[in-house]
Amino acid sequence: MRDVSLWRNLLGIEKTVLERVVFDEDAQVLVAHVRPVARQRGRCGRCRRRSPQYDGGPGRRRWRALDLGTIRAELEADTPRVRCREHGVVVAAVPWARHDAGHTYAFDDQVAWLATQASKSTVTELMRIAWRTVGSIIDRVWEDIDAQHDRFDGLRRIGIDEISYKKGHKYLMVVVDHDRRRLVWAAPGRTSATVHEFFDLLGEQRCALITHVSADGADFIDTVVTDRCPAAVRVADPFHIVAWATDALDEVRRQGWNDARKQARAEPKRGRGRPRSDAPPRACLTNRRGGI
Ligand SMILES: [Zn+2]
Repeated sequence: MRDVSLWRNLLGIEKTVLERVVFDEDAQVLVAHVRPVARQRGRCGRCRRRSPQYDGGPGRRRWRALDLGTIRAELEADTPRVRCREHGVVVAAVPWARHDAGHTYAFDDQVAWLATQASKSTVTELMRIAWRTVGSIIDRVWEDIDAQHDRFDGLRRIGIDEISYKKGHKYLMVVVDHDRRRLVWAAPGRTSATVHEFFDLLGEQRCALITHVSADGADFIDTVVTDRCPAAVRVADPFHIVAWATDALDEVRRQGWNDARKQARAEPKRGRGRPRSDAPPRACLTNRRGGI
């Protein structure tokens, strides 16, 4: 039936039987009544293993789907429970949403993508959800990505740095992959224990493959890197090198200025008017190394 596949595509659902679509006038929500196809039924919500049915569960519930134009859309289905060998009694898995999620896969994916591209208010207003919900969605999506991809695979040249938030009261330790130009890890804290945490996750074998580590020159980072990746070349990042060079130059400039001012004060007072053309040059302008 063409209408069914059209609805399925609009709602972004697969392996799902669409029973009917109704419009809830009171809530102004389009509700699609659905159920998993036979092969997707009776599976554990956590591991998706086929498991015997336990009971009918708490009844029907709804999942928020992506809006259809200006209309809010939701899926509604029964929530039977199964008894999993490993996880005990759990609500059965559904093919349109993650376990314990109140939103469909398509909704979760769009929110997670938007969170990387737009401001907090854009995401919450456009998707009509709370910022706290965005956090939960990112956690769910990230968990799935992490299970499928090894973000530490192929790490060779990394950068370690800390950034502050909450007006400098809290810190995050971040690790970037210089070759792929992307963030690979971040955690709260700015101590050697935080840096060790990253290398613990990386594991001994992959630590041995790291060839270069850039950092801001903080001693605690350097000590941990020396300990965990002894073969890696440690380099200072360009931002700090330029900052240090600028500070050093500033110091010399200030010193030069102070010296010149001191000498100028010690000189005998000049007479009024222009100096004679054969007058000797002023000491404060010639005695400085390299001049000012
Ligand atoms: Zn299970």
